[in-house]
Amino acid sequence: MNVARTIRTAAELVEAGMIAPELQRDIEQVADRYAVAISPAMAALIDPDDPHDPIARQFVPDVVELATTPEERADPIGDLAHSPVEGIVHRYPDRVLLKAVHVCPVYCRFCFRREMVGPQGLGTLSPEAMDAAFAYIAGRPEIWEVILTGGDPLVLSPRRLEEITRRLATIEHVKIVRFHSRVPVVEPDHVDAALIAALKASGKSTYVALHANHPRELTPEARAACARLVDSGIVMVSQSVLLRGVNDDPGVLAGLMRAFVETRIKPYYLHHPDLAPGTSHFRLSIAEGQALVASLRGRVSGLCQPTYILDIPGGHGKAEIGAATIREREDGGFTVADFRGGQHLYPPK
Ligand code: SF4
Repeated sequence: MNVARTIRTAAELVEAGMIAPELQRDIEQVADRYAVAISPAMAALIDPDDPHDPIARQFVPDVVELATTPEERADPIGDLAHSPVEGIVHRYPDRVLLKAVHVCPVYCRFCFRREMVGPQGLGTLSPEAMDAAFAYIAGRPEIWEVILTGGDPLVLSPRRLEEITRRLATIEHVKIVRFHSRVPVVEPDHVDAALIAALKASGKSTYVALHANHPRELTPEARAACARLVDSGIVMVSQSVLLRGVNDDPGVLAGLMRAFVETRIKPYYLHHPDLAPGTSHFRLSIAEGQALVASLRGRVSGLCQPTYILDIPGGHGKAEIGAATIREREDGGFTVADFRGGQHLYPPK
């Protein structure tokens, strides 16, 4: 459906035909709690005649978001437990997150930082907080990589991004600058020459990790935006979340991974959905996730294989959770599963 501007309110959702008028009051309650934004590019992908549209499911708010379960938590991956100064998350020795902004061009209904992003979220770092964040990075030689996330850092103006990359360029021990973004998919026209130039820190390697969850998101416009990034020398990897009703299907998942590789984006992480509040309708069991990931092994090229990841609640970091293909036997040998599920013996060495 075609809309001229980003949809942000329940009234606009009704006007666009994305929710029934009788739901407006309930959806206002959801929108009061968790930010809403659907960009024109994403609205254009939504089929109003499909009640199970996978794009609508990611962005159109639902009253079930008001129900939280006991295991859900406001900070599911434990960012705050590892934040030594405002805007920095230092969970692993060699890298930090730099969360300069908590605004996004769209708001995903399953977002793991949904309590931190949006108009009522943590906002944008003040110049003083930014100075403190850069001082933190500059003072720790073990920090090899800085990951700009948030929020979506690509909502910042090229001028502000350039200021960040210029400051990172002066820190000798930082070698990699990585941006996590949905912008190339949800606002592909935003990826222009000025933005691309601003992402590059002199003397460093720039990576962009694209967040997309359904192959339909890789439109010709999105693919062209990614081509502009890759052609400029930026390396791209993917990030997706395994989501009930969006991509919990072997064919859809395979199509998504192939779409990434066709776009010169290496599939990187497939996240098990986090325990974010009001998102239980998106979650599937780890066993279901493992079966879906195993289905990729027989279906698509090795280039298309992501790593299935769980962020351990409480801030303990990531763990690979794909089903093991190898099992040790009592005699010291191993049983190895092939991509069709067949079992084969292998000696101890
Ligand atoms: S773009 Fe990322 S941070 Fe923003 S709402 Fe979606 S998942 Fe959350």
